[in-house]
Amino acid sequence: MQSKKIGLTGKIVIGMFAGILFGLLLNTLISGAADSWLKLVVVDGVLRLVGEFFITSLMMLVVPLVFVSLVVGTCSMSDPSKLGRIGGKALLLYLITTGIAVSIALTVASIVKPGSGGSMAEQDVTFEAQEAPSFVDVLIDMVPRNPINALAEGNMLQIIVFALLFGIAMALVGKPGDRLKNFFEDVNSVIMKLVMMLMQVAPYGVFALLARTFADLGLGDLLGDLAVYFITVLVILLVHGFVVYPAILGAVTRLSPVIFIRKMLSNQIFAFSISSSNAAIPVTLRTTTKRLGVDSKIASFTVPLGATINMDGTAIMQGVATVFIAQLYGIDLTMQQYLMVILTATLASIGTAGVPGVGLIMLAMVLQQVGLPVEAIGLIIGVDRLLDMTRTAVNITGDAMVTTIVGKSENQFDIDTYNDPDAGLNPDGSLKGGDDDNRT
Ligand code: ASP
Repeated sequence: MQSKKIGLTGKIVIGMFAGILFGLLLNTLISGAADSWLKLVVVDGVLRLVGEFFITSLMMLVVPLVFVSLVVGTCSMSDPSKLGRIGGKALLLYLITTGIAVSIALTVASIVKPGSGGSMAEQDVTFEAQEAPSFVDVLIDMVPRNPINALAEGNMLQIIVFALLFGIAMALVGKPGDRLKNFFEDVNSVIMKLVMMLMQVAPYGVFALLARTFADLGLGDLLGDLAVYFITVLVILLVHGFVVYPAILGAVTRLSPVIFIRKMLSNQIFAFSISSSNAAIPVTLRTTTKRLGVDSKIASFTVPLGATINMDGTAIMQGVATVFIAQLYGIDLTMQQYLMVILTATLASIGTAGVPGVGLIMLAMVLQQVGLPVEAIGLIIGVDRLLDMTRTAVNITGDAMVTTIVGKSENQFDIDTYNDPDAGLNPDGSLKGGDDDNRT
């Protein structure tokens, strides 16, 4: 009876809190002694092993899952020309929501003034900027010269383009396409089964990852000059994830925002603990299709696309960080520079994969565009770990929200699944598997 009440989501939540508490405990016990046995055996031994094992297994599934599910989704579309409309809608929504996110961040940061108390006089920091690729380069780079290479490197945009073209050709070629479709559908079911198997051990993986992160976290940084910056970013992220998204979803689709928040919770904890929208793709795909009721034809396209091009949480950090750094240096940003931040932050996210810490690299592009010192990023690195985790959870929530809106607007959406609190779950709260995964 007991296990009936604590489903997978409950276990993941427990794993998260237990991991954070255990990590904080280790943090105090170790307190700077890098050679303590607790650090060597527990943090860098057991916790690292379990955490890395979990994260690597998840990443192992990303490329095959994205490719196969996208091929299956595309080739079963009755009218492949719809793809353009779906892609257009998703792209527009992704860009608009990122624009909104960074605008909110800039506005709030200008009011809160997180950097007004500090000064850059005697700070010694370094950070190397990378050259920002031009928008045209990003477009050219979307077509893979060598698809096998794209798969091997996990280049998401290239994989998406190749899978879409492959799926369209399968739909057009007739019999050979039908034969291949059965094969890909079977492979898809097998990979989804693997995702489910992995999710059963997720509570332990989440526990280990969070315990290790919090054991190593330099909490001192959070209390110093960076406290206002940290709290400003964190609060905007939380409001964006838990208020703005559900509100947009409710307003556009008339679906219950509360159900959305509830069903996203375990997905958010996943993303929070692994800090990577890309590695979270298998879980986000499962949540959007099995729990939120979006047809996999849509989700298999919009979720990997979102993991790559939609990073609203990251844009929020960039907005606040830009204002923070400008204030530290005593520079007043002009309206034109604000607009530049919005544009660059939105465009920078397009060509950048959702992996841990990539937000800071994108921030370098933004700072460079508006002429602020890029090396100032060195100042905020200390508190970025926790923010990276939180913004990843926001990023994937945005992907799921846009996926739900597109699915609903295309009538590729099952309202009963959305409204059913237990959709995708067995009566004991574990994940449902088997044939129902073979959705086409
Ligand atoms: N880690 C984030 C993601 O994967 C990107 C970032 O903001 O660094 O979504």
